[in-house]
Amino acid sequence: MSIRSPNGIRKLSACPNCAAELGTAPVGTKPPHTYCPSCGTPIRPVWWQTVLVIMLMMLIDFGSGALLGLGGLSLLLFEILFLIPAMLLAMFLLFKNIQPKYATRGSVPPSLFSR
Ligand SMILES: [Zn+2]
Repeated sequence: MSIRSPNGIRKLSACPNCAAELGTAPVGTKPPHTYCPSCGTPIRPVWWQTVLVIMLMMLIDFGSGALLGLGGLSLLLFEILFLIPAMLLAMFLLFKNIQPKYATRGSVPPSLFSR
């Protein structure tokens, strides 16, 4: 039950519970897992990848509203309606380019001081 492979290198897309390799061979051919396929543990991408998705989502959402030249209430309505598509687009763009790294769902985000 180690997260490290036999040669001691930490696998990027390993299950945090059973250390099964969850990465896809060409990066981004499948969406990130929500459950480990081999042990069934609920998993999610690590906090910094979630932060990256949120930042990219905000950029896409507010950027597209600004590009369309909207203002006032129409801008607000557009942002609200476009939030979910922007989030899906952000997740697609991010996990198309980097391999998702997993943490167990409901676990405390790691701090710099816990090792
Ligand atoms: Zn597992």
